[in-house]
Amino acid sequence: AAKAAGGRRWQWFDPGMDRAGAEAARLADDLRGALPGGQLFVLFQPIVALPDGRPAGAEALLRWQHPTRGLVPPDQFIPIAERTGTITDIGAWVFTQACRQIAEWQRRYGAAAPDRLSVNVSARQLADPRFVDTVIRVLDETGADPARLLVEVTETAVLNTETAAGHLARLKALGLRVALDDFGTGHSSLSLLLNCPVDVLKVDKSFVSGAAADNAGAVIVKNLIGFTNDFRIDAVAEGVETAEQAERLYDVGYRLAQGYHFGRPMTAAAFERTFTAQAATAGA
Ligand code: C2E
Ligand code: MG
Ligand code: MG
Ligand code: MG
Repeated sequence: AAKAAGGRRWQWFDPGMDRAGAEAARLADDLRGALPGGQLFVLFQPIVALPDGRPAGAEALLRWQHPTRGLVPPDQFIPIAERTGTITDIGAWVFTQACRQIAEWQRRYGAAAPDRLSVNVSARQLADPRFVDTVIRVLDETGADPARLLVEVTETAVLNTETAAGHLARLKALGLRVALDDFGTGHSSLSLLLNCPVDVLKVDKSFVSGAAADNAGAVIVKNLIGFTNDFRIDAVAEGVETAEQAERLYDVGYRLAQGYHFGRPMTAAAFERTFTAQAATAGA
């Protein structure tokens, strides 16, 4: 059919589209084998307390080590996993890894263990009718303390369906907390926060980047903290890259932050060293 159409303009446009489509299809195919092939792994990025940078917890971030392409970033393969539905199995696997990890940290380090671990949950996962049952089963199998777990969802995922909101309410009833991720990038509305049982607001990097400057981002960052305080929501500043940003964030009232300035996503072993070192300094 491609050959038959033949018009010049059409030919100029279509091969690229075809390549992109074929490329996505190949990646989708490969992704189906990623989990059984042991190509997925999870890194942990510290979420720290301000101003000292003491690790308060971590966010689990998924990685795909593709056999020929190398490391594929999640922004490239999560959307494919969402479209093809493999996100259901992958998401359950990530949640299991996170639960095992927090349970192990608690067992091995007791009071020095991080008190929170965040897991990203995408729109399709959240809308899945089996989602809450999976969470219950994994909590049971791993013995993880639900009070130490947070699910990070985006505004779009929550706004999508009634089902999503219902699932979040059930997670909260189980003792997990809910974080609204990338706040400010979607069709953000403060009213969403009022209608949805959010415990943590993750203020997007796009605002945080300007925190140390004199611009609109800085004003938004500053005003959001008052709002979250009023509603007893924790605020986490995402994407903190400089000491200057961290200082400004602390000055306007932020007590939690995450970003390359404090630590990149790292292996569980590397993350353990950050909080055991901290416990040693604190004389714990
Ligand atoms: P996110 O949940 O907003 O995660 C934060 C992203 O910002 C991570 O990218 C992290 O590495 C990056 N980041 C952290 N600090 C800084 C900084 O100071 N500067 C900059 N430039 N970036 C910073 P990553 O790991 O590539 O993940 C991208 C997105 O993929 C995540 O954004 C999340 O939406 C999604 N994702 C990652 N893991 C999972 C998962 O297990 N399940 C689902 N559904 N989505 C995931
Ligand atoms: Mg996140
Ligand atoms: Mg985020
Ligand atoms: Mg993001």
